[in-house]
Amino acid sequence: MGHPDEILVGGCWRRGTGDPFETRSPLTGAPLAELHGASPADVDEAVRAGAAAAADLAWRDLPPHRRARLLSRVADLVAERAEDLARLQTADTGKSINETRALVASAEGTFRYFAAALETLEGSLTPSRGPYVTLSVHEPIGVVGAITPWNSPIASDAQKVAPALAGGNAVVLKPAEWTPLVALALGRIVAAALADLGLPAGLMSVLPGPGPVAGEAIVRHPGVGKVSFTGGTATGRRIGALAAEKIMPVSLELGGKSPTIVFPDADREQALAGVMFGIFSSTGQSCIAGSRLFLHASIYDEFLDELVRRTGKLRIGPGDDPATQVAPMVAHAHRDRVAVMVDAAVAGGARVRCGGRAPDGPEYAAGAYYLPTILDGVPNDAPICQEEIFGPVLVALPFTDEDDLVAQANATVYGLACGIWTRDHRTAWRVARRVEAGTVWVNTYKQFSVSTPFGGMKESGLGREKGRDGILGYMRQKSVYWGTDEVLPWAG
Ligand code: NAD
Repeated sequence: MGHPDEILVGGCWRRGTGDPFETRSPLTGAPLAELHGASPADVDEAVRAGAAAAADLAWRDLPPHRRARLLSRVADLVAERAEDLARLQTADTGKSINETRALVASAEGTFRYFAAALETLEGSLTPSRGPYVTLSVHEPIGVVGAITPWNSPIASDAQKVAPALAGGNAVVLKPAEWTPLVALALGRIVAAALADLGLPAGLMSVLPGPGPVAGEAIVRHPGVGKVSFTGGTATGRRIGALAAEKIMPVSLELGGKSPTIVFPDADREQALAGVMFGIFSSTGQSCIAGSRLFLHASIYDEFLDELVRRTGKLRIGPGDDPATQVAPMVAHAHRDRVAVMVDAAVAGGARVRCGGRAPDGPEYAAGAYYLPTILDGVPNDAPICQEEIFGPVLVALPFTDEDDLVAQANATVYGLACGIWTRDHRTAWRVARRVEAGTVWVNTYKQFSVSTPFGGMKESGLGREKGRDGILGYMRQKSVYWGTDEVLPWAG
């Protein structure tokens, strides 16, 4: 059940029939695994098997509270294998072990939450306006495509697989090329849970492979009734366009360039720690990274000097060292891309306050390391302030008054997240309501709860994940009129 070179196609473990590809260690550059990716034919097989499994009465007629048992079983297995899953994710993504342990715990919590939500799933009896009873019910879509990025694989995968199964669907999961291993491990867990409960194996597929091949084949497939995508805005736009051709619903969790705002009255210690954590945890490879720092002009120099001093002390090292705060990036190619963006900003006039290069020293030579970097001296419309870098790069900007601040914070195509640091609750409330962002953190940052909806505004996305209504995003709504009077308008 699940040799390293096998993928999960409609419940069967076997080699993909697409091109082979490697996943490499971000720490050493050495190959971790070679996989044969999913071809369009594999996608077709997975979708057909998924459709058959979704229609199987053993699954279709299972009441929601019994579907919940599947999710609880998955959560139990994730908990049992938590340390192995965390270590695998650290090996594949480079992320620090503390972060990957937290991501595994979050994945377990996601399955438990949607199991609990299933116990309370309700339809509604709507007010009737005639001789009939009117009902609104939600039904499974059938086969759902889930396409995920590399930065927090198990958490992103769980965020889609759990509500999609909860909604009574089959799932076809396509992880990112750089990090397929955790999704395959999750596939093994879901497959084991399905077998334990005697449910159809075809409900779960895991199809690694190149986005334009395996990913597009999923989006285009006529048997796929919804795609839930997390990744970059350019890819999201492409998937949205393909979905429009089929009139298929999509949810899109896309990129960000989130403002973090520090007012002069903020708790200085909290703000310093929060700003650093907001940008440099996950080595900045986070859609919600607080990558634009707006500092009130009256504290600009002093706060920034201290931030630079503390950033210089962050512990940089391998992901498997629990003391590490800033681990290698996901891939050498991605690190090099970040370096090019920083170099271009510097050539365009940005000042390097710290970092701006890979660390020195033989212990860093092989890994995809990049120093936590703080830049300033550029206006908000400079490319480094507008483009998502997806690395440990913070750009600082001064502001004077609230209107100026809100205008600058909103002057971006993105609208994913925002951080506000102030002791004045009125200031926090006013700014929180004026900033265009799907999530606002006040005096905290990058905190998550599965019971709270998440998603972006503007080019950061479409739709919301998590929360009790998260399941409904994977269901279709139907209205039923049930006549209570035999007399119809044309009856004799
Ligand atoms: P990406 O868009 O390159 O890839 C994401 C996934 O889409 C991968 O599985 C990829 O193979 C697939 N894909 C690529 N082209 C495709 C196509 N034409 N059709 C179908 N699938 C295709 O993103 P990435 O580099 O893996 O991840 C980084 C991006 O993800 C960043 O922009 C980040 O902000 C975003 N992200 C957003 C959130 C969020 O919740 N808003 C969370 C994490 C990451």
